[in-house]
Formats: sequence, structure tokens, C-alpha cells
Amino acid sequence: MAPLPHVVILGAGFGGMGVVQKLRGAPVRVTIIDRHDYQTFQPLLYQLATDELSPADVAHPVRETLHRHANATFHQAVVHSIDLASRRVVVDGMEPLDYDYLVLALGAVVSFHGVPGAAEHALPLYSLPDALKLREHVLKIFEEVDKQPALVDQGALNFCIVGGGATGVELAGALAEMLHVDLAADYPQMPVDQARIILCEHSPHVLGPFKENLRAYAEQALVDRGVHVRTSTDVKEIRAGAVTLANGEVLKTHTLIWAAGLQGNPLAGSLGIPLVAGGRIAVGSDLQVAGHPGVFAIGDIALATDAGTGKPLPGLGAVALQAGKHVGETISRLAEGKPAEPFKYVDKGTMATIGRGAAVVELPFGKTLTGTVAWLAWLGVHLSLLSGTQEKTNVFLEWGWNLLTRKRGKRIILDDSSTDSAS
Ligand SMILES: Cc1cc2nc3c(=O)[nH]c(=O)nc-3n(C[C@H](O)[C@H](O)[C@H](O)COP(=O)(O)OP(=O)(O)OC[C@H]3O[C@@H](n4cnc5c(N)ncnc54)[C@H](O)[C@@H]3O)c2cc1C
Repeated sequence: MAPLPHVVILGAGFGGMGVVQKLRGAPVRVTIIDRHDYQTFQPLLYQLATDELSPADVAHPVRETLHRHANATFHQAVVHSIDLASRRVVVDGMEPLDYDYLVLALGAVVSFHGVPGAAEHALPLYSLPDALKLREHVLKIFEEVDKQPALVDQGALNFCIVGGGATGVELAGALAEMLHVDLAADYPQMPVDQARIILCEHSPHVLGPFKENLRAYAEQALVDRGVHVRTSTDVKEIRAGAVTLANGEVLKTHTLIWAAGLQGNPLAGSLGIPLVAGGRIAVGSDLQVAGHPGVFAIGDIALATDAGTGKPLPGLGAVALQAGKHVGETISRLAEGKPAEPFKYVDKGTMATIGRGAAVVELPFGKTLTGTVAWLAWLGVHLSLLSGTQEKTNVFLEWGWNLLTRKRGKRIILDDSSTDSAS
């Protein structure tokens, strides 16, 4: 009997795990590689960074997902290089993997757009370790100011967020609630009312891709929560303890959070294929890489075009998951000698939350929602996207409790090394 075709999936995020789902029971051998042994649910990283949820709520063990996938094997390992010509992947600490089908689902990395000092001093929010680091950083800042109140004059309670897209807006809202409600109660002697969250956005609006009424709602909801929204504001340089804006103004801060952009995983640049804007791999309508049959790229590492509108698809978990499922089905079809079919993204709407009871939702066909209804819709959609039943239950219960008590998680500092001043 001929050996089963070998499918190698690089990356166990939304895209990679979408592929795995559809290959369950298919006549193929599946190998999944990821540097982490868990799938991260990035849309809830703000809640982790601001202590609303715990790490286990926003990550799901890949090995547990695979319990019912007899044809799949997982290895926690770092992908070192990919040779498309010899159809081989080199993974640190393992024998090289030869493949019949390859799925590139390695996501993106933070892009600092060449802003001097950003790589050294900014705190990004893209991974679970990033979120934990940010959470610890904020808690440590408060402990430092508690001991040395003079630090307030040096900007220790100024929290600067660069980027007014969904990441920056959601984080600003969550941070405002954490500072002004929870930390204000934890540090009654501290002038927490002097804490400032400054959101710097290059364009004239926050939430650029959303409709005008939703952008205006989000901006007002942030202002109502005490966030200083600085639109049409570029950051020129970041130094230890300060940020210089393009207009020459200097903002003192010990916390600079970078939410201003991503680029495709750098491994895309080593493939020897042309990349498009943002270092992403352009794929055909069936999500295959041109000139490399059987090689697919999905999610944040790829740039796919909507078959319906002809527009590029956004870097969203929903896009990555649907693309992954489509690739899983395509591989099954190809293995059976059937042709691939084009990917059609089903847009169920885009949304962002600003905080408790405040969110914006843009539904397909132009309808919009704001306020509590939008927030409940956001909550429902994000709960349903979570991987495991246990995560869904935990998150539901934790949030339910938070809502009732207006409290969040256990604010304890795990890393007891000295305060890690980001900038
Ligand atoms: C803070 C934040 C909030 C977001 N909110 C939303 C939202 O509300 N709704 C929404 O739809 N989308 C949201 N997104 C976007 C969404 O999370 C991404 O579009 C989605 O995760 C992309 O899926 P992916 O599979 O392409 O990549 P990822 O989910 O990032 O998975 C890539 C995987 O590759 C692994 N990897 C990378 N390099 C290597 C290597 N060299 N070796 C081994 N493994 C490697 C990583 O560990 C990771 O597990 C948000 C993103 C962020 C950062």
C-alpha cells in the first residue's frame, strides 16, 4: 500500500488548527509544529494583560485538541527553515520533515516601522508572554510609585499606547478600567487620579476601518473613561522614560505599549518567493502559493483576496480560521484527485470592545450596533470562538463574576525581579 500523503502544518494558531479540524479522519498523515504547546486566543489578550482573565482562559493545549485526531501528531518546536524546492522543513531539535502538502500558518510579528527606540523600549501585545509581561509591568509600576511618589512627576503613571486600531482602543479601554477602578482601590494612598492613558493614533480617527458613527462612539467612550485620545499624532522616537512626538512634544512615560502594526512572520522572507506589502505571502484564490502546488499560506502570514469583493482580507482570527478549514477540505479533495475550489470568506461582522457595556459592531450589509447590545454580541462571539469547553465555561464564569462584583482577577506579581521599566 502506498504511504498516506504527509501534511505538515506550521503554526497551531487559528489558521493551523482550522486545517487540523477538517483533516480529522482524512486519509492523510498530519504533523503540526508550533513553538508553543498551546493555541493562543489573541482577541482576549487585553483581558489577560489587564487581569480580567487568567492565562489558562486564553490558551488551549494543542495536545488536548488532538485527543480525537488519530492521524495527527504535534511537536513543540521552532521552525528553522523551509525549502520549497526540495519540499522539506527544518525544525530545531528534530529530523527534517518532508511533506506532500505544506500549510504555512506562522502568523505575524510586530512591526515597529523603523521608529527609533521602539524595538528596545516598547511593550508589544501579540502573544501570551507579551500580555503577561505587560500585566506584570503595570503592577510593578504601581508598587514602585507606592514606594517613591516622586516618580509620578517623572511620568511613571503615564501609560502611552501607540496605535488606535482595534488593539490600541480595546487595550486603552481595559487599562482605564483596571487603573481607575481596581488599582485605585488597591492603592488608596496613591494619586491614581493622576494616572493618564494617552492613545496616539497616526490617522485622524481611531478604529480607521470602521464606519464613522462607530469611530465617533469609540472615541467618546474612551474619553468618558479618562483616556486622552491624540489623533493625527505620530511618534518620532522612544527613549527610556520618554516619547517624542512628530510635533516635537515630549511625553514622559515609563510604559509605551506598541499596538501600531504587524508584518508577516520573517520566515516568509526566506522562501525565495515575492512578498506583498507587510511582508506577507500573496496566495491564489484557493490559498495555494503560486508556482508551488500543494503549498498553502493562511492567516496573518498571507494576503488572500476576497473572491466576492476582490478586496484583500483583513488579518482577523475569523479569516484565519475559515481559511484553515478551507485548506483542510482542499487537501482532502486533492488527495482524492479532485480539484481545489476558491476560498469564500463569510463575513459575520467586525467588532471591538471599549470596556464593560461599551462596544461597536459592524454587521455585514452595513448595519451597526453600539453600547450594551454590541458588547453582549462581542462577548457571545468571542466566547463561541474559544477552543475548549472548559475555557468557554471558565471565561463565562469569570466574566459573570466580574460583572456582578465589578472586580477582576487576583492582582499578584509573579516575577519578583526589579521593576522592568519599558521606556
Ligand atoms: C491583541 C490582539 C487582538 C485581536 N483581536 C481580534 C478580534 O477581536 N477578532 C479577530 O477576529 N481577530 C483578532 N485578532 C487577530 C487574530 O488573533 C489573528 O488574525 C489570528 O490569530 C491569525 O491567526 P494565524 O493562525 O495566522 O496566526 P497565529 O494565531 O498568530 O498563530 C501562529 C502560530 O505560529 C507559531 N509560530 C510562529 N513562528 C514560529 C516558528 N518559527 N516556529 C514554530 N512556531 C511558530 C506561533 O507560536 C503561533 O502559535 C487580534 C490580534 C491581536 C494581537
